[in-house]
Parts: sequence; C-alpha cells; structure tokens
Amino acid sequence: MRVDIATPQTLMEFSMRPEWFDLAQKPVPRYTSYPTAAQFEDNPDADAVSSWIAGIGPSEPISVYVHVPFCEQLCWYCGCHTTVPNGYTRIGRFVDVLLKEIELWKAKLPQHGGGVHLHFGGGTPNALNPKDMLRVLDSLRDAFCIDDDAEISIELDPRTLNPEMIQSLAAGGVTRASLGVQDFNRTVQEAINRIQPFLLVKGAVEALRGADITAINFDLLYGLPHQTAESVAHSAEMAASLKPDRISAFGYAHVPWFAKHQRAIDEKTLPDTKARFDQFEALSETLVDFGYVQIGLDHFAREEDALAGALKIGALHRNFQGYTTDSCRTLIALGPSGISEFPGGFVQNAKDIRDYSESVMAGDIPHRRGVRRTDEDRLRSAVIERLMCDMQVDVAKVCQRFDVPLSHFADAFELLRGLERLGICDVTGSVVQVPVEARVLLRSVAQCFDAYSSPNAVPANRHAKAV
Ligand code: SF4
Repeated sequence: MRVDIATPQTLMEFSMRPEWFDLAQKPVPRYTSYPTAAQFEDNPDADAVSSWIAGIGPSEPISVYVHVPFCEQLCWYCGCHTTVPNGYTRIGRFVDVLLKEIELWKAKLPQHGGGVHLHFGGGTPNALNPKDMLRVLDSLRDAFCIDDDAEISIELDPRTLNPEMIQSLAAGGVTRASLGVQDFNRTVQEAINRIQPFLLVKGAVEALRGADITAINFDLLYGLPHQTAESVAHSAEMAASLKPDRISAFGYAHVPWFAKHQRAIDEKTLPDTKARFDQFEALSETLVDFGYVQIGLDHFAREEDALAGALKIGALHRNFQGYTTDSCRTLIALGPSGISEFPGGFVQNAKDIRDYSESVMAGDIPHRRGVRRTDEDRLRSAVIERLMCDMQVDVAKVCQRFDVPLSHFADAFELLRGLERLGICDVTGSVVQVPVEARVLLRSVAQCFDAYSSPNAVPANRHAKAV
C-alpha cells in the first residue's frame, strides 16, 4: 500500500486554513481504541470477561501492560493517572499488590502463545527501586511466559533515572526506553513544573545505550505555555541531535475540569488553535529535515525503525500506547486504571489505588469499567484503525472482510463529503484519504465512522480538541 510521507518541500506550503478553525476546536476522541473509553460503563459483566479470557487461543501471542501510578512530583500538564507517594512506603506496598495481581493472572490464563510485548507505563515506572523492578520483571516473565526475544519497553523519567535502575532494566531484558522530554526551553519547563536540562537527557540516553538498551523513544509536546513555532522547532532539533529511534509529538490537552492540577497553568500563556497548528507544522518539518518518517497523526521514526517498516507494508497498529507494531488481539493490563483488551471487549481496572489494592489482596482482579464489542464495533474499529495508521482506507475492502455492503456506511460518506469540501479528505469511490497538509485533523475524518460520537453531535468537554 502506498502511504504519503511528508517532505520538507510540501510542508513549506502548509498553513492552517481559516475554514478549518471550527473543526480544529471541536473535541474529538484520540481513537487509541474503538469504542473509546467514553463508552465504558461501570460494573462490567464478570462472566463475559471470564469468557474473553478463556477464549485466548492455545498458540495466541499476547501483550502485557503494567501501569505504575506514582511520580516524584507532578508536571502541571499531566493528564495521566498518577499520584505523588512522598517516600517509598506506598510504592513498596504497591509492588506487593502488583506481584499478587501477576499471580492471579497466572492462575486465570488458559494456555497461550506467550507474551511478545511487555510495556511499563505510568506514572513513572522508574519510581520503583531497582530491586523491586527486577522482582516484577522476573515475575512477569514467569507468569506470562514472556518470549526471550519479546519487546520489553518502559517509560522513564530521566530526572530520576539512576545507574542502578539502568543495570536492573538491562538485567531484566528491557529492550526499549521511552523518555519523557516534552520541551528543552527553560521558561516552558518552569511553567509546566518540569525542569529537565538537555545534558540530563543526553546523559540518560548515553547511559541506556551503554547498557545495551539501544531502542530509544522521546515524547515531545506542543501547545504548552510560552511555546512558539520557533521554540518548538528548536526543541525538536535538540531532541533529534540525540538520534532517538522514535519521537512522539503530542498536543497538550488543556482539560482542567478533568485534570485539576492543570489549573496551575496560566491559560493566558497558552497558544491558540492557529499557533498550535503552526507549532505542529514547525516540529514536523524539523524532524522530517532530520530524516524522520512521519507516522500517522503524531509519531516520527527513523527510516530503519520497525515502526517505519510497518507503515510501509500497511502493518501498523494503534493501541493505548499510540502507534505500534504490536498485532496481538489480546492485551492484559495490570495496575490501577490499566485497560485490558480482548476481541470481545475492553475492561478497566479500578483507578483508585486503595480499591485496586484491597481487591487484589482479597484474590480478585478489580475490573470496574468496560465495554463489550459488537460485530458493528469491530467493523468500525477496523476502518478507523486503518485510517488512523495509513491516513487512507479502502472502506469497501474492510466491508468485504466483514461481509457487509458498502452502503452500510452511507451516513459516514455523507459526513465525509462535508470534510472533502473543506479539503480535509479526498474520497475516490470507496477510498478515503487524508492529505498530508490536513494530518492534524485526521481524528475528525475518523470520527465520521464513529457511531457513538459523530462530528455533528459531540458531548462537550469529554475529549481533547482536534488540534
Ligand atoms: S512524570 Fe509523566 S506521569 Fe508523572 S506527572 Fe509528569 S507527565 Fe505525569
């Protein structure tokens, strides 16, 4: 499949068209799942969840996610599920609970094909001490039969990463480290309560590579207080100079009604929609100039990286971590707020650490919210995933796989025609394509296939703005 890849020449021509402003300001789901978390309901059917688990095939590979809900201090922009523990006592207790949850899953899982992806997110996974990190890694390896050549990736805060932890990660078989970088500008860092000098990040990268953890990801943010197109491009340039394999560039989602600590951010210092768009374009142009391939909505990868390879052959996937090469149908999530995925549906652990801990110690995996996936959901999910990954989808081909006529999506094509008039997508027969210059509005195109949240009827404030 041919996929458009941005070049510096074409990027030079881009600008935010005035007729896109309204759409860019509308809240849109991120489509890291479909149905999205907004459709989850309380008290998922325990029998249904048990049948999803029992339905894992005897040779089916699985993925595992571990959520560590602690950080040493809060960044004001943070939208993650995390808390500041003030010392190690709460973290130590959490490790005991996590080890118990791993045992519960070991007892529950039927025979399967082994764990091929293991990801630690948070929060800050390196909030654990090195000894506990190794205990957890060993326990996961045993309980989920993690393959020797599995990808084991971890999100790290470079400010609190020490040599002992790096040794533990290397000894535990970690293959990929994802560092939160965000921005190198001191004024921006002060405004978001995250002081992190360039040399600190450089030192972390060198130490990881020195320990043979050679696959490195960076997270960057645009849309933060005091950022400009020039400052964002400069940070991207500094980041690229360290040659990470992948870079994610997320737009800061200002949702203070949801993440209360974001009230510490002075709204007057935030860029408007046009400025956010310009920042994203400046960032993209810089990274493409440095040889990165632009992937989907917000990822960049070096040409030799597996993510860029997957894009070329149409094998890219999207899950809660964003774009991925992980093609597993089953994802088991551990830790508070972790979301497990099965072909039959999604189920989320208790978010509250006490609720989560008490349930696990009583021998019960605390599934508190979830949603069952219908055939209709799976069909729409397949269309949305291809669009989000490849920026184009042949809807007829997907319909054929699901044995439904193309006319099933007549309403979606009606909505797409409106976006096509604005230059946000091209529709040729059953093929929908998003031009490179409208990439930041990709989610709005995907939304045309969303039965729960059409572009014309979105509940206020449930999702971040499109740009
Ligand atoms: S380190 Fe990451 S998870 Fe923790 S507060 Fe900062 S942004 Fe949030």
